Amino acid sequence: MSISKFIYKNTRTINRPIIKLYNLANQTKLIKQVKLSIIKPFLYFKGLSNQKRIKKYFKKNDHEYYKIRSKEDYKQFITNHIQEIDCAKALCKTISLNGNIKIQGFCAGCGKHVDFDCWKSKDVPEEEYFILFGSMVCPKCKSFGRLRAMFYILNKELTNAPNQKIVLHEQVTEFYKTFYANYCHNGNKIIGNEYLGDNIKSGTIINGIRHENAMELSFKNNSIDVIVSNHVYEHVSDINKTISEAYRVLKYGGKVIAGIPFFVDKDKTQILAKEKNGHITYFTKKEIHGNPVSSKGALCFYHYGWDLLDKFKAAGFKDVYLINIIDKKLGNIDTHPCINLIAIK
Ligand SMILES: [Zn+2]
Repeated sequence: MSISKFIYKNTRTINRPIIKLYNLANQTKLIKQVKLSIIKPFLYFKGLSNQKRIKKYFKKNDHEYYKIRSKEDYKQFITNHIQEIDCAKALCKTISLNGNIKIQGFCAGCGKHVDFDCWKSKDVPEEEYFILFGSMVCPKCKSFGRLRAMFYILNKELTNAPNQKIVLHEQVTEFYKTFYANYCHNGNKIIGNEYLGDNIKSGTIINGIRHENAMELSFKNNSIDVIVSNHVYEHVSDINKTISEAYRVLKYGGKVIAGIPFFVDKDKTQILAKEKNGHITYFTKKEIHGNPVSSKGALCFYHYGWDLLDKFKAAGFKDVYLINIIDKKLGNIDTHPCINLIAIK
């Protein structure tokens, strides 16, 4: 597509919500966030060159892409990568103790050579020194470790086929902006969305943000090429419903690519809370994670274990695997298994 066509196409799709937003006199926090996120991807506009740089870098510097299909595969992965893991642990400990360190590397999100900003996480207990949480950030695109791992994986998993429909379960985040810049070309349609609350119909657009409930998507059967989500699936109240809904809307050969907090020591998923007719029963202490569209956060329903792969297979997905990235150069040194799951219909 020519650049002028690209500008025209994106101006058309993006301007509508902006105009709506400018008409809104009352600037709630949400609207402010949306304004930023919807306008910025347009300014980011260097998407095609991002992709070129990323492809070029990985052509030269790629490493093994190890697909983990079982607990045994995971053990093998750990054995094969024990040196990297030990180095990563030592580095995480240094950061946790000393803080404020810069680490040179390559960002798989924006495709730039950068100094990742690392700082000491507050009051980290000694047994968690090896988890950096959000403290290793790209100064250019603001991505942190697990999001860069996702960009690396997307670089591997997404094809160059034109006119793909890609559902991304976020819309008001920095990740959305970089994702949009990287993949909104070649006729692709990026359908960003957030969960805006109960009793809203999926597909409804409120102040420029599209609402989608992952358990009841608004998309037609066999219509979507890829569903991408970062730490969304632990917040759905019914994972089986979510998986069959993803299966329903995906085309054959389509993929779910999901970042999930995964508990490698658990064979069976632990259910933290259950929802029935709007009433929530808690089986453990309430666990709340950050939510970009609500200051109340998002309730965590599951700690996933190995049976999550079986759930995807039972729903019909023909291949399901996990990817774990440990690579200092890419700024992925958290050895806590925040793993990405890929399921292919
Ligand atoms: Zn970056």
